[in-house]
Parts: sequence; C-alpha cells; structure tokens
Amino acid sequence: MKKVIIASHNEGKVKEFREMFKEFGLKVVSLRDLDFHEEIEENGSTFKENASIKAETIANHFQEPVIADDSGLEIDALDGRPGIYSARYAGEEKDDEANLKKVLAEMEHVPEKDRSARFICVLAIARPGKETSSVEGKCEGIILHEKRGDHGFGYDPIFYLPAMGKTLAQLEPGEKNKISHRAKALRELRNHWSEIFYT
Ligand code: IMP
Repeated sequence: MKKVIIASHNEGKVKEFREMFKEFGLKVVSLRDLDFHEEIEENGSTFKENASIKAETIANHFQEPVIADDSGLEIDALDGRPGIYSARYAGEEKDDEANLKKVLAEMEHVPEKDRSARFICVLAIARPGKETSSVEGKCEGIILHEKRGDHGFGYDPIFYLPAMGKTLAQLEPGEKNKISHRAKALRELRNHWSEIFYT
C-alpha cells in the first residue's frame, strides 16, 4: 500500500486526512507514528512558504511523499494580521485566549463595515526529487466584538459567518468541517489528486 506522511502531531487533523485518503487506498502516517519530534523553523513570509518548508523538510528526512498544512486568520482592518503569526499573536506560548483578546482589543473601534476577515489554509505536497505543489482553501467572515459559542478552537468564537447567522464556534464540528478553510483545501487536493501524485 502506498504511503503518505502528514506533517502534523495534531491527531484531529490527521484523522481528517485519514478519512479523506481512504478512497485512494493510501496509508496515512503522522509524525507521532514516526516518532519525529524535531521543531521545524517556519521562517517563510506566507502560508504557502511555511507549509512548503514543513513538507519539504520532512520529505527530505524520510524520503517519502509528505503533506503539510499552514493556516491562520487574515483581518482586512489589521492589514492582514495576525496572518502567519496567528498561533502566537500574543506571544510564544501559543495561547488561543490571549490571541483572541489581542485581536478584539485591536478591533475595538473598527466599524461594522470594515470588520471583514478570512481563514486561510494552505496544504503543501512535497515529494523527494519533485517540485512541491500546493492548494488553498478560504473561509470568509466578520470579526465580532465579543465571543459567541463554545465549539472549535482558536479564533472560532469571534469569527461570524453572515450566511449562517452563527460564529464558527456555534457550529457543530461536523458542520464546521464541511465549510471551513481546511475542508475547502482538502476538497481542492482531492480534485487535483492524480496530477499532484502521479505526474
Ligand atoms: P496551525 O496551522 O494549526 O498552526 O494554526 C495556526 C493558527 O491559526 C491556530 O493556532 C489558530 O490560532 C488559527 N487557526 C487556524 N485554523 C483555525 C480554525 O479553524 N479556527 C480558529 N483558529 C484557527
């Protein structure tokens, strides 16, 4: 059976990939399965660069195909911040609550019409000796003034989806996984599956 490594220790993400790749007869292996715990420095300036750095580092190390993702929140009124710094916007500790509070404080005086934002997810696919490919998914929304909902993680409670009348944190996990930036990137990957993996 052909194998693909997912460059993540996050079992939630790995589970999503496993589900998706079942139909392709591919075995999905996580960094935890491989006992790989080295920190990879993500020093790119875009989601695509960071996802590619992660995927290529692991692909070179194991000499196997690797998929890596990088994601975050881009707020128009903040010139695209927190962007690639989403996980550590309020400091190195990767504190979701502190990150969210910082965004709310920075957005306090921004009028309703200027509160547009989007989550972005880039998946990079690296194969030893081949050029790296990538796909992207986006989810558009509005930044609220306060938190709503208890599901999800990160900035979900302040990210409002006008079409659904709810924040991402008010959606059931199954619902979020149908419309999220990550779901859309995964769908894109599925659409381009054979050209990415067999050319
Ligand atoms: P990573 O790609 O898992 O490193 O995520 C980067 C950061 O972006 C996370 O720590 C969150 O702060 C934010 N983020 C990415 N995806 C989501 C999401 O689906 N909901 C809320 N926050 C997210």
